[in-house]
Amino acid sequence: MKAQTPARSIMANGDFGDSRAYTITCECQSNNHDVHMWIELNGDEDGKDIEMIFYVNTTTPFWREGFNRFKTAWNILINGYHESQHTLLLNKQGAMNVANTITTVVKELEGKK
Ligand SMILES: [Zn+2]
Repeated sequence: MKAQTPARSIMANGDFGDSRAYTITCECQSNNHDVHMWIELNGDEDGKDIEMIFYVNTTTPFWREGFNRFKTAWNILINGYHESQHTLLLNKQGAMNVANTITTVVKELEGKK
């Protein structure tokens, strides 16, 4: 086993054979903005395909000026939902590392089909 070189914006979390897990980190360094990415080889005898799944944890923008907990709670009660947005920022190097990881892993999993 060889030591790996750290890459900006992307962290390898695990290799589970037919699936790989990564964390993509935001350029602003807030781990609230992390995006968890799984690249998997899924399917059955009829055919296998590669799927990418992104998991994002969202939080209410508690710190944002004008955010009102009671108004948000009221909206959920009345409208039944609360909309929130997620932003992940990558610089050029980070974007290239993420793109290269996707390309490499998809090719590797294609080979296992
Ligand atoms: Zn961020």
